[in-house]
Amino acid sequence: MLHSVCARRSSPLKRRTPTNRAVFLDRDGVINALVYRKEEGMYDSPYSTEEFLLLPRAAEAITRIHRMDMLAIVVSNQPGVAKGKCEASMLDAITGRMCEELRDLGVALDDVFYCLHHPEATVLALRVNCDCRKPKPGLILQAARKHSIDLANSYMVGDTSRDIQAGIAAGCRTIMVEGPNGSILPGAEPLFQVRSLYEAAEKIWEQGRLSCKYS
Ligand SMILES: [Mg+2]
Ligand SMILES: [Zn+2]
Repeated sequence: MLHSVCARRSSPLKRRTPTNRAVFLDRDGVINALVYRKEEGMYDSPYSTEEFLLLPRAAEAITRIHRMDMLAIVVSNQPGVAKGKCEASMLDAITGRMCEELRDLGVALDDVFYCLHHPEATVLALRVNCDCRKPKPGLILQAARKHSIDLANSYMVGDTSRDIQAGIAAGCRTIMVEGPNGSILPGAEPLFQVRSLYEAAEKIWEQGRLSCKYS
């Protein structure tokens, strides 16, 4: 599923060989804060624009990603609509809020890909065992096709093992941002662990410097 409301470029770069590099970003817990639901005793996505809060330095991190000549692309499971937790129009409004807040800070995402499906969805049309729900790599692969991305030289940044598994399955490097849902499953060990998206961007920059020096 694709939302291009806040695309930085009006059309994707068209090249035969995948030469663009990207940082794939999970949304909740990476760009914006998770919301604690007392009733359910768990951290969840925001389900209203009021609940959407950008995390500190997230916008700066995206600027830094662009300075490295990499695309910043959101790949996110958003099963809230499927589970009846929010309306599709609210998900769009929250995406709009994210883009607006980033724009106010001088940055724009290059694209946003959501998986809206869930195997136990109450909304039947979305009860699909799809290829795009992370830990599957479908969203990353869709983005890679559209934007001609060299996956081996790209990164997946997320706050759960699902994100890391999807990144590994797509052939990307992986970085985990610490958070309350961040227990690391066997086989889902990230290359690096950091405390924020900004730290992830710094890590990627350091790695780029190392490969310039020694290759
Ligand atoms: Mg997350
Ligand atoms: Zn899906």
